[in-house]
Amino acid sequence: MNDDEPGSNLADLVREVAHRSPDQAALTFGEQSLTWAQLDAAVDAAAAAFTGELDLRAGDRVAIALPNGLDFPVAYFGALRAGLTALPVNPSYTGRELSWILTDSAASALIGTGSVIDTVTGLDEPPPALRHRITAGQGLAELINSGRGKPVPAAGGGEDLAVLMYTSGTSGRPKGAMLSHRALLANLDQCASIQPAVLQTDDVVLLVVPMFHIFGLNPGLGMVARTGCSAVLMERFDPVGSLKAIQERGITNVIGAPPMFLAWSLLPELAECFSGVRLAVSGAAPLDQAAQRRLLDATGQHVFEGYGLTETAPVLSSTLMCEVPKPGSIGRELPGVELRLVDPAGRDVGDDEDDDDEDLVPGGDEPGEIVVRGQHLFSGYWPDGAGGPDSQGWWSTGDVAYRDDDGDLFLVDRIKELILVSGFNVYPREIEDVLLGHPSIEEAAVLGVDHPYTGQAVKAYVVLAEGATLTADEVEQFCARSLARFKCPTAVDFVSTLPHSATGKVAKARLREPADN
Ligand code: AMP
Repeated sequence: MNDDEPGSNLADLVREVAHRSPDQAALTFGEQSLTWAQLDAAVDAAAAAFTGELDLRAGDRVAIALPNGLDFPVAYFGALRAGLTALPVNPSYTGRELSWILTDSAASALIGTGSVIDTVTGLDEPPPALRHRITAGQGLAELINSGRGKPVPAAGGGEDLAVLMYTSGTSGRPKGAMLSHRALLANLDQCASIQPAVLQTDDVVLLVVPMFHIFGLNPGLGMVARTGCSAVLMERFDPVGSLKAIQERGITNVIGAPPMFLAWSLLPELAECFSGVRLAVSGAAPLDQAAQRRLLDATGQHVFEGYGLTETAPVLSSTLMCEVPKPGSIGRELPGVELRLVDPAGRDVGDDEDDDDEDLVPGGDEPGEIVVRGQHLFSGYWPDGAGGPDSQGWWSTGDVAYRDDDGDLFLVDRIKELILVSGFNVYPREIEDVLLGHPSIEEAAVLGVDHPYTGQAVKAYVVLAEGATLTADEVEQFCARSLARFKCPTAVDFVSTLPHSATGKVAKARLREPADN
């Protein structure tokens, strides 16, 4: 499925559309918009400024901590065109979170909102490799202007590292998943090979899922560039405002996360505002089935579901591959994705060529861990590629699923303890570490619990130090000083003790039993 020549640079997609349809609207944000020719010229200027004015060199990391808006795509494609590695970061991260990512990645430059730049400037220990801090808006515009008319550097592509994206991984702090130009382009080819076509040149896509998340970045922005259609960018999800924008701006394709569809499904304007929408796709977390049903009843349309991970650039499966999407299903694998369900106990698929079939689950509702192979996989975690695909190219996702008799996949569980709040990853240990920093907290455990709007929410179990008193509000406020809002516990249970396994680890399964079942 991958027609791209080895060595292709993802930012070439922008240049190709600019040649084909220079005057077509590319991106709109509020009252501002860019045609494809204007976007391409801005990307050229950004690339020239990054290597000229900022003196960045191939492979240097440029962190982009911005919400959706026109600055993000210019900075992103500009970095790629200059042969740099883009490091998309959530701008709502606190100093502690930004410090970890900027230090671990040894980023040379940061393009951020005013508040991100202030936070990083105020850090006690500045990230050692960070040479440039550029504020979005005026600061970035001046930098880009300095690159206009200057020579555009020759950039790499193919196996070169295009994107470093921090994700929870399976242990410890967030880790940088290394995505090459090849991997990102391969997933775009895979999405584009779905029939009937997901996007056409005259489509207008609503992009409110953040581009600092892989879902907004590649199936969102990347697919818009690959297709050469238009996108309307929105910074924040406002249920009524975004629904009106769908109608007023002639949106034909909606890419969203479950909380958006859930909110829209409850609004009376839904049917009218969705009348021009030809395709709606949800991804990143499970879509509420009752919301799916309400949307179908009101609009006569299915909301299709996509499943994937940062490490797989990201889309692995979609209900667009099925004639009729089944509620609760993640559909079938995309063309070019090899997907096996492996008995979690029989591990290490592909390492031993002789045992290839032994560890496959027999099928027929038997759950197994999703293990995948394909051109779109990451090359491992920063900096040395650890945790990447094995010698045969297989990679274990940590998600458990089963396949029904029609071949449709259903997720049943996660092996890892990832909590998904509105599609954003929350890794319990990170929250537990923060909680343990409170002088009144002796022990803490964090779990994900079902939540009607955000899919999951963070719940903390806290054992207080002897004689200490603390309220749930105080715990939440304490967390908010070090963690982005979506990672903070929204429920706190004070317990006298936590159950432990024989090895001394908190037995979370036992914690869950009485409280959440
Ligand atoms: P991320 O790397 O942030 O994209 O998170 C990846 C994880 O999100 C996967 O391992 C899944 O557990 C979960 N996920 C992604 N898409 C879906 C979906 N459609 N339904 C349920 N969970 C999903």
